[in-house]
Amino acid sequence: MFQNGIHFTNLDAGLCCNGHKTCCTMTPGAWGGMASERQHRLAIVEFGRLLHGNGFVAATDGNLSVRLDPHRLLVTPTYMSKGRMKPSDLVIVDTKGNRLAGKRNVSSEIGMHLLIYRLRPDVQGIVHAHPPTATGFAASGLDLNQPLVCEVVVGLGEIPLARYGTPGTPELAEALEPLVPSHDAILMANHGVVTYGSTLENAYMKMETVEHFAHIALVTHLLGRAQPLGEKEVEKLWAVRHRYNSGGKCASTRTPDAGQDLREEAERKEIAGSRR
Ligand SMILES: [Zn+2]
Repeated sequence: MFQNGIHFTNLDAGLCCNGHKTCCTMTPGAWGGMASERQHRLAIVEFGRLLHGNGFVAATDGNLSVRLDPHRLLVTPTYMSKGRMKPSDLVIVDTKGNRLAGKRNVSSEIGMHLLIYRLRPDVQGIVHAHPPTATGFAASGLDLNQPLVCEVVVGLGEIPLARYGTPGTPELAEALEPLVPSHDAILMANHGVVTYGSTLENAYMKMETVEHFAHIALVTHLLGRAQPLGEKEVEKLWAVRHRYNSGGKCASTRTPDAGQDLREEAERKEIAGSRR
């Protein structure tokens, strides 16, 4: 049987729940209409390959997770390439981060995942990576809040920058905490990016959008002619965003000064240019 191009029978079924094979043969819908644990394992492996293949992570960087049920998370292991994982390499932890199943040690950045699942009951999947352009912004102390592209405003609203916190310590979770409830994608200063959503695929897509938008923001900066959308246009896009998210499941709070820094910078350049 094939799912997402991966052969199901290749799964090491005995490893998934301390040897209980029943959990690996759950049909979709066995837990709240969601995918089975086996499908979640395959999805993490697939999106790990995409992260690595797209250059969003190097070496053993990055981590991914899925909420299996209210008490268990399926998470990538530490010290392993996200492009070369097998379904049986993944680790199941409880909501405190204690390992319940799996041979490997869980990602050292599990604290960040636990925080996001705790603050956002709507979130089912999380992706953390170090995509080079977006991480370049984060390492330059720049957020990606500028309303430069209409679809990014509708899809993600703003992409704020969290202050630096040492990876694997409570410092990092503390830096993210105020931003998690109202955003779905966050730049982490001098570190990388975390995205999350209603599915792992949704979280991964947001990571692609963040990196793609970072490229665009960089090009507008290189051209020296960034033209952020005006306040009225941004308001209309936020109205569309609220309509799309009318279920209230998606972060949709807007910082009042969205795009202001960039607009001011553009104005300053215009004034400087006119003086030449
Ligand atoms: Zn990291």
